[in-house]
Amino acid sequence: MQTQIGQTTLELVRGDITGQDVDAIVNAANQSLLGGGGVDGAIHRAAGPDLLAECRAVGGCETGDAKITGGYQLKARYVIHTVGPIYFIHLGNAPRLLGSAYRRSLEVAAAHNLTSVAFPSISTGAYGYPVRKAALVALGAVIDFLSKQPHRLTLVQFVLFDDKTLAAYEAALRELVEA
Ligand code: ADP
Repeated sequence: MQTQIGQTTLELVRGDITGQDVDAIVNAANQSLLGGGGVDGAIHRAAGPDLLAECRAVGGCETGDAKITGGYQLKARYVIHTVGPIYFIHLGNAPRLLGSAYRRSLEVAAAHNLTSVAFPSISTGAYGYPVRKAALVALGAVIDFLSKQPHRLTLVQFVLFDDKTLAAYEAALRELVEA
């Protein structure tokens, strides 16, 4: 499923983000930036050990913020590491922090003049954010950025790992586009 936001195609696909041929893939990292499970582990395995070495030098990332590194053995030239909220810890602040993770990732992409970026579903794995709620926040934040901020993005993808997550994002996008 896809939709057009100004000059940018916003696309939802099912797949593995590590193989995506875009300028940058976004990593759902933790504050240490030293690797973890889920999509973070998969990205580090695919990028190779030089990614961890650069992440060590970056020195961490606050929840809701984003940091950029090289992509090393990935097809993507860059990895944008962002940290989403932990649903049952951040509670009432979770929607704001999740929106911020997407917005800050796109600000970093725009600052590097990137034209294509792929996101995973941030916070909906180990961090426990209900996927339908997360999808509305994620797509709302991305659409808001693409329609209001200066950037050169022509493609923003959500690369979703399973059918349930893809279906949740498709339902949320329909809801937002019809609104
Ligand atoms: P978080 O800690 O932010 O919740 P997780 O990595 O645990 O991050 O999960 C986030 C989402 O990423 C989940 O929907 C999970 O299924 C998905 N995921 C895991 N591996 C990959 C991958 N290789 N490509 C895309 N998405 C993935």
